[in-house]
Amino acid sequence: MQTTGKIGVTTENIFPVIKKFLYSDHEIFLRELVSNAVDATQKLRTLASFGEFKGEIGNPTVRVTLDKAAGTLTVSDSGIGMDADDIEKYINQIAFSGAEDFLNKYKDSANAIIGHFGLGFYSAFMVADKVEINSLSYREGARPVRWECDGSPEYTLGEGTRTERGTDIVLHIDSDSAEFLEQERVDTLLRKYCRFLPVPVISGKEREWKDGKWQDTDRDLVINSTEPQWTKKPSELTDEDYLAFYRELYPGDDDPLFWIHLNVDYPFTLTGILYFPKIKSNFDINRKRIQLYSNQVFVTDSVEGVVPEFMTLMRGVIDSPDIPLNVSRSYLQADTAVKKISGYITKKVASRLDELFRADRAEFEKKWDDIRIFIVYGMLTDEKFCDAALKFLLLKDTEGHYYTPEEYRTLVEPEQTNAEGNVVYLYATDPTAQYKYIQAANAKGYNVLLLDGQLDQHFVGLLERKFEHTELVRVDSDVVDNLIRKSDRRVADLSPLQRAILTRLFELPTRKIEKTSFVVQFEPMGASAEPVVLTQNEYMRRMKEMAALQPGMSFYGDMPDSYTVVVNTDSPLVATVRDQAETALAGTVQPLIERIDADSAAAAEIRKAAGDKAPSAEDDQKIKDLEKASTEAREQQNKAIDDYAATAPRVAQMVDLALLGNGLLRGADLSRFIARSFELMA
Ligand code: ADP
Repeated sequence: MQTTGKIGVTTENIFPVIKKFLYSDHEIFLRELVSNAVDATQKLRTLASFGEFKGEIGNPTVRVTLDKAAGTLTVSDSGIGMDADDIEKYINQIAFSGAEDFLNKYKDSANAIIGHFGLGFYSAFMVADKVEINSLSYREGARPVRWECDGSPEYTLGEGTRTERGTDIVLHIDSDSAEFLEQERVDTLLRKYCRFLPVPVISGKEREWKDGKWQDTDRDLVINSTEPQWTKKPSELTDEDYLAFYRELYPGDDDPLFWIHLNVDYPFTLTGILYFPKIKSNFDINRKRIQLYSNQVFVTDSVEGVVPEFMTLMRGVIDSPDIPLNVSRSYLQADTAVKKISGYITKKVASRLDELFRADRAEFEKKWDDIRIFIVYGMLTDEKFCDAALKFLLLKDTEGHYYTPEEYRTLVEPEQTNAEGNVVYLYATDPTAQYKYIQAANAKGYNVLLLDGQLDQHFVGLLERKFEHTELVRVDSDVVDNLIRKSDRRVADLSPLQRAILTRLFELPTRKIEKTSFVVQFEPMGASAEPVVLTQNEYMRRMKEMAALQPGMSFYGDMPDSYTVVVNTDSPLVATVRDQAETALAGTVQPLIERIDADSAAAAEIRKAAGDKAPSAEDDQKIKDLEKASTEAREQQNKAIDDYAATAPRVAQMVDLALLGNGLLRGADLSRFIARSFELMA
């Protein structure tokens, strides 16, 4: 008996639609058919366990067979099979309402269509112009059936030829999809989607190199491992098992640092193993990713949005039947089950880290440098993780000691509390470049943290927000005595004349450095400290660094780098320069200073007399004249000092040494400096 009928979809012709919209994802047809075959096999096991199937199950496999000559790809199983009623119910009546609306809405996302409507089987029409089903149901007395459809809504259903329980799905591959008749292509797809399916999936034969070419053996090629480690109990697994599984997932990689075996039943089902890899080059764009499975069927490895962002640095496998199999990523991200999973994993990862820290601190410290980027990234991007991480966060100083936040506070509080009562944490971002500053800080009894990671710029701000009454200050942002401002601070003892002369003298040599601004400052730093030190203002530096990362802040990004030339007034060398310059310049500069002072005092007097009113035209002119005279006097003063500077190469030499110490002396300036150094030696 043979019947014909119309497949029950409301849209007249669903197949062209499937073909068109599903085009970019067409390879997933294989996943759909193989997982249907696996499901049919598993169902038989379930029925057997309930006593509803009493026959022999044997060692069922799923077999994918290619016949190039016939142009067919066949997926065969020995699962429950289907009879005519089953086909009518499960294949012919596609539960499909409002198909058109839905297709319009989701036309960009093939996966969403398939998953939403259980169209897995029909995905075969993406690559086939004719599909046959040959099936024999497990039910006693069932008759074999054969179904055939050429991609129009018409199908034929009739007597089949199959003699063994199970199903063959035969795809007559269309001319555009010839690639799916290639063994290698098909094997690659099976390895991608079916690698861990619970029933052996066979694709052709194992091959060996014989008589100068690859030849098929008579052994079946099994694509998958049916009992991946994550499906086992943690107590059954040794460290070596976990490592071996990692190597299987990511061949050629360094072994991971540690792992977490996830195993939840409630409120959702989730298993998996997550590994902490050694992250060498911080942010690897081609991240090896966490793989998402649903009942051992590969779903995706683009897990962004499914797991928290920072966990994309981790590796391994997450398997949950609650992860919808066939939907697009945006669909996945919005899924409430997926959101819960994400929150759960975050908690689990944090508590595992906490456990590792508590169990063996020394071991944890050893691994710290390798996991730090992960933890910092997590703290910066996930509030909940951040709070949890404060329990196992370690701060490392430039000498390689590790402290918990509380330990560190206890350590530095006595020496590093400033006049306002804030504890100042000093940090270095480049221990080689900032060597001198670290040394100076250590000599003063200060500790210096090492914050040289890629994300530490942001981390500094986070620490300030998380730790109360705490300031973070880079070790080269001021001279050591001013890094932590205490109340008993000394100030430089200079006369106005000395100050005017020295400011100009020490500022002059910095003018040659482009895109960088310098201000001169005088500090009594002790006789043994260096005569001139360059520091970089913390606030301006942070602003610039932030601007570099954030669009819309180019105002700060365009500002010059700003440095302070700190002149140590306790230095004997500076004292000599000061005295010589004063002797040479006092006669010219002192009267000019007095003149400038007198002029500005006179101008102030006039303004004061005018009170709240605007000065009269006559007064206004007087003020302008006084200002002009001051400007002229200042110009004369500068010229006198500049002329003197040309005869006193020592100042330029001192400033150049400070520039050199910060890598700011380059090119022609560096050559001039070297030439001058030799001249001064002669
Ligand atoms: P889904 O698998 O999401 O239910 P499909 O369109 O892939 O949607 O399959 C529809 C139904 O057809 C399945 O639920 C199952 O009952 C039946 N089916 C498909 N393939 C097989 C098979 N190889 N053996 C037995 N039944 C099958």
